[in-house]
Amino acid sequence: MKLLKSLTFWIFAGFVFGVLFGYLFRESILPVANPAAAIFINSLKMIVMPIIIFSIASGILNIESGKELRKLGVKTFLYYVTTTTLAIITGQILVTLVKPGSNVTNLVSANVENIPAAEGSILDILIDIIPTNPISAMAEGNVIQVIFFMILFSLIIMRFQDKYRTFYNDFFQGGFNIMMEMVRWIIWLAPVGVFGIVAGIVAETGFDAIIGLMKYFFTVLGGLLFHAFVTLPVILSMFGGMNPWLHFKNMLLAIETAFFTSSSMATLPITMECVINNDKVEPKVANFVLPIGATVNMDGTALYEAVAVIFIAQAYGIELTFIQLIIVLLTTVLASIGAAAIPMAGFVMITIILKAVGLPLEGVGLVLAVDRLLDMVRTTVNVWSDSCGAVVVNNLSRKET
Ligand code: ASP
Repeated sequence: MKLLKSLTFWIFAGFVFGVLFGYLFRESILPVANPAAAIFINSLKMIVMPIIIFSIASGILNIESGKELRKLGVKTFLYYVTTTTLAIITGQILVTLVKPGSNVTNLVSANVENIPAAEGSILDILIDIIPTNPISAMAEGNVIQVIFFMILFSLIIMRFQDKYRTFYNDFFQGGFNIMMEMVRWIIWLAPVGVFGIVAGIVAETGFDAIIGLMKYFFTVLGGLLFHAFVTLPVILSMFGGMNPWLHFKNMLLAIETAFFTSSSMATLPITMECVINNDKVEPKVANFVLPIGATVNMDGTALYEAVAVIFIAQAYGIELTFIQLIIVLLTTVLASIGAAAIPMAGFVMITIILKAVGLPLEGVGLVLAVDRLLDMVRTTVNVWSDSCGAVVVNNLSRKET
């Protein structure tokens, strides 16, 4: 009976029925699957922007001083850059050893029309962080611009000390609590959403795509699993002072949501709920670390992009020099930061890295077929890394005080 009351059980049931119905009914399930998926995903998207606004502000306003904020910022930054770099190096080593691209040269002429490509340079991406109009950034859901604006806004309130601080503190804290309650309601739509998402993917993609790209698929998967089950747990135990298995159990709901929605941003409300309520990470830390993490910290995406780029080079028979591999590393860090936390964003950013090392942009066509499936896993790794980051930063900050 307890099992039937558990959300995890119902999400799993949604998954099983999704696979079954998607496989049996193929495209005719879409009129049912698509609305089911949309109800869940739209509900999550509905609360993302308010959560970001309230959480960044209430997080910063609960921090005592500018000095404490700086320390928090430095730890967060160091964790994000370190784990992203480790993820990329793992991917680079694996793809160089396995050489998945050496046997797909016959696919090189893949049809690449209509494949989305990222526009602009890395510099453009950085400049674009400043919103020319914060209100339209909010309305358009431009998360990174809103984060930038809210950090600035909250820093200035901090300087006013008591004059406005108490009012805004109550306002943003209250707003945040209300949004978290809404999350707890929306979570119950997850089983229906998962059913719709999975049925849609199985009906449209099927499993055939994996066969031709088997070696590539498993190279990315192997790297992602290594990062999730070895690298991050080691960091979590060493610096977070937490048993990784316990943390995994606490995060289960967010992990499932990330896997099925392929969007770190849509998962953010649930990540926050798990980290604050189950892991007992201080809200001021979680409120600061997680929204930024969902936007900029994408270990899974970075690893995937590095493997994809080197795979494409191998498929074209191009041997990358050591310097080019370093360029891949650096541009991948930036491309993963610049990727939006939505489905397939990482795929679109691959073109930026290809451009940086002078590889043919059409190469992205090679990896498209299995992108949707890999997106599910890399998004899960992204969210998993964000949550480990919150625990690590929380632990290190606690030790300091
Ligand atoms: N879907 C990923 C995320 O939301 C981004 C990507 O496409 O790699 O984290």
